[in-house]
Amino acid sequence: MLRAYLDNNASAPVRAEVAAAMAPFLHENFGNASSVHQRGQAARAALEQARSQVATLIGARPAEIVFTSGGTESDNLAVWGPLADSRPGHVITSAIEHHAVLFPFQELEKRGWRVTWLPVNAQGRIDPGDVRRALTPATALISVMMANNETGVIQPIAPIGTIARAAGVTFHVDAVQAAGKIPIVVEDLNCDLLSLSGHKLHAPQGIGALYLRRGTTLRPMFFGGRHERERRAGTENIPGIVGFGEAARLAAAELESSAERLATLRDRLETRILDAIPEAVVVGAGPRTPNTTNICFAEVDGEALVISLDLQGFCVSAGAACSSGAVDASHVLLAMGLSPARARSCLRFSLGKQNTEAEVAALLEVLPGLVARLRELSPSWRH
Ligand code: PLP
Repeated sequence: MLRAYLDNNASAPVRAEVAAAMAPFLHENFGNASSVHQRGQAARAALEQARSQVATLIGARPAEIVFTSGGTESDNLAVWGPLADSRPGHVITSAIEHHAVLFPFQELEKRGWRVTWLPVNAQGRIDPGDVRRALTPATALISVMMANNETGVIQPIAPIGTIARAAGVTFHVDAVQAAGKIPIVVEDLNCDLLSLSGHKLHAPQGIGALYLRRGTTLRPMFFGGRHERERRAGTENIPGIVGFGEAARLAAAELESSAERLATLRDRLETRILDAIPEAVVVGAGPRTPNTTNICFAEVDGEALVISLDLQGFCVSAGAACSSGAVDASHVLLAMGLSPARARSCLRFSLGKQNTEAEVAALLEVLPGLVARLRELSPSWRH
């Protein structure tokens, strides 16, 4: 019994229009885009159309789009690609990046690079001044996310881009959680590289793209065929790419109306929770993506609340998904100054195109009771 899926930042369902656009490429148009025959050429045409659609979503040229297997590969290519031929120097990133950026930077550190980990304030925002102060003549790369996956907080990317460009330092932006939710115009951001992922904007999992500004060179991570202008070897995932193209086209066409609807629904969800539940506090202030809210429930074990909600048919998330089974306090919330105990009491609600008022209302029927019950179990809650 699924009553509401409110975990769209983890993965959003494939839209019907996207599935319909993909279907022919799973059946009759199954060709390899490198083949010279008709089937191959049909795949090639679809690939190039999708490239244009994805480029349009972010104001890029089609030739600047490299298709990848997802956000993680795009992030890794953006970090390793520009540095592959350099001796260890200095790089800059933030303390709140997704693990797809955080872990490559930790790996760089192990290999002798000096890493500046930019802090965030209590609202979850980076100060562009910190980027300027961190720059050294040895700085080779700056990587900052556009919107945080856990809080939705939007970072001051354009001012950071101006600083990076003036210093002549390559600038990567992880826009996986921003694309399709807020406008992106790569020229305005002054970035050289920008990561996208299909399944965050209602395309399938396992397809992504890296924007590579004209003139930016990088060493590929894979060696094989001459796909993607020799920037990413491997037979293209045509059904996934076609789905991504269609999802990007729809997202671009609906950007304004969709953001308005989602923000209204998110704000309603937030207000109702804060009204109904004592000592519930929203984490992250200032500009946020329209679909995301992160709320702390004092003295509640977030993981236990996720499970209790799941049993009632509601899918939400307590911070970043953890594959190891261990529940670590979120590095994002810790960087914002929350104590580990407080960070463990937070839940992320992330909405998608499919969510409705009725689902929000249904959530509010059960959430206050579940929070109260878990608080009863907490020795430190005032009984
Ligand atoms: N970057 C951010 C900000 C994300 O939220 C995610 C996924 O949650 C990724 C990168 C990784 O993307 P993918 O799941 O497509 O590998």
